[in-house]
Amino acid sequence: MRVVTTRDELARARGDLGTVGFVPTMGYLHDGHLSLVRAARRANDSVVVSIFVNPTQFDPGEDLDSYPRDLDRDLAMLEAEGVDLVWTPRVEDVYPPGSSTRVTVGGVTDVLEGARRPGHFDGVATVCTILFRAVRPTRAYFGQKDAQQTVVIRRLVRDLALGLEVCVEPIRREPDGLAMSSRNTYLSTAERAVAPVLHRALLAAQEAYAAGHRQASDLLEAAHAVLATEPAVAVEYVSLADPDTLAELDEVDPGRGPLVSLAARLGRTRLIDSLVLAPTAADLRDSSRSSGQNPKICDPREPAPADADLG
Ligand code: AMP
Repeated sequence: MRVVTTRDELARARGDLGTVGFVPTMGYLHDGHLSLVRAARRANDSVVVSIFVNPTQFDPGEDLDSYPRDLDRDLAMLEAEGVDLVWTPRVEDVYPPGSSTRVTVGGVTDVLEGARRPGHFDGVATVCTILFRAVRPTRAYFGQKDAQQTVVIRRLVRDLALGLEVCVEPIRREPDGLAMSSRNTYLSTAERAVAPVLHRALLAAQEAYAAGHRQASDLLEAAHAVLATEPAVAVEYVSLADPDTLAELDEVDPGRGPLVSLAARLGRTRLIDSLVLAPTAADLRDSSRSSGQNPKICDPREPAPADADLG
């Protein structure tokens, strides 16, 4: 496994790696990240991982300085997964001095996380554009954990014709249901014990749906009722939205795999989680409808070009 820092080193090491599966991360890796690495390993000749805590996607007052870091541990984990190349750029390798260009994806960034974290998705879209240009992947792998991010990246890649395939992998969870996250390390023991309530709230919405409820208000109420059982949890939002436009829904259209997502604070830690409502038996009987349950495959809307050269 090669580890490089500068863009020149990356360009030399990138060379001819055949088809490249790329996994962008901010490090402090866990099994969620590794599930993306394994998916990339299965479908590509080579796997490239970046580790970069991207300053432009943190709003002022967020946890940029305290974000957990452990490069030696990360590299050992990636080596054990058979990763070919790791890019660990410094800030100046990604953003040359004087850099002032930002990439903005409109519309789908106005809601949910985008509404609460101004500038966050500009930072995400900008860094992904730069990373994609530098790595020139055939496919890039993202986690459904950051559901809105997957929508933003798909839109970015399509709108700018970046010439790569966007692959989305399911959320990896701890045995008690808590979605794995580098930020879980911030939780105190007491907070960690409470945190799985987020997943239970999503499951309550899923159960209400399975019981026949179709009104968003009913499904959201089911989730809120579970969250309310833990007073330590400060809910920011619970949303039921179209999985592609992220527009809030009044009523579920089972054919569209509606996305239930939420954000909440537990002490000083902000957690997000989401679930794509699974179809009921009745939905499945109607063959004109398809499930959007945590997509596992590369997005068919972004076919991999034969020559994934970004030019
Ligand atoms: P991060 O290091 O937090 O920027 O995450 C890097 C990638 O890993 C993103 O595409 C995340 O969505 C993905 N990821 C983070 N946590 C999980 C998880 N629990 N399950 C699946 N993917 C995840």
